[in-house]
Amino acid sequence: MSSVKEKIEKIKGIIADTALSCGKKPEDVLLIAVTKKKSMETVKEAVQCGAGNFGENYIQEATSKIDIIGKEKACWHFIGHLQTNKAGIAVKYFEYIHTVDSFKLAKEIDRQAKAIDKIQKILLQVNISKEKTKSGIDAEKIFELVRQIHTFENISIQGLMCMPPYFEEPERSRPFFRTLLKIRNDINTCQFLNVSLNHLSMGMSNDFKVAIEEGSTMVRIGTSLFGERS
Ligand SMILES: *Cc1c(COP(=O)(O)O)cnc(C)c1O
Repeated sequence: MSSVKEKIEKIKGIIADTALSCGKKPEDVLLIAVTKKKSMETVKEAVQCGAGNFGENYIQEATSKIDIIGKEKACWHFIGHLQTNKAGIAVKYFEYIHTVDSFKLAKEIDRQAKAIDKIQKILLQVNISKEKTKSGIDAEKIFELVRQIHTFENISIQGLMCMPPYFEEPERSRPFFRTLLKIRNDINTCQFLNVSLNHLSMGMSNDFKVAIEEGSTMVRIGTSLFGERS
């Protein structure tokens, strides 16, 4: 058995155990294998080993992989910062865009999706930790953004995404995950027409167990599957 296969099975096992331990179904937590800066060969191997969902951060790197690997055996998630002028490419290539954080970007994604007759699934990235260097919309502004974009016909708002600061100690991520869950629930309670946020994209290699305990439905894992990035 290849080491990638072992690692995928190990992580899937931990995801399942963690989900079950807090009364959730293992299949309600999606493993997104983050392959940024990893080779085509690594991605191909991961596909063969049963990873079905992939996260990429850089448009150019991602499109060259998707052109070769295709969309039949793999579902592609864009998880990097998206510039408005790259929205058209992202819409063409990705099933989900996790990092929408402005009206301008949402509007352009809607326009590009309309042009190719697609309903683009998106998540809204929230800057929970308010770090100046991080992308994402401030928590205070998220309701206004949802209000402004929820009537766009060619985007479907699926959920929220966050990236807490890196902590050695995963417990320290918990308050950030809990806040994102609360914002998600508050938005759903508001009953915007056509808005039902089912997904929370949160948790990475070091803190995904805590994220699942706090309601994550999409964990984005790179290092634990493929080793350190150079
Ligand atoms: C790189 C990256 C990940 C994966 O991080 P690991 O710590 O390697 O698991 C997850 N989410 C985003 C947005 C990333 O950029």
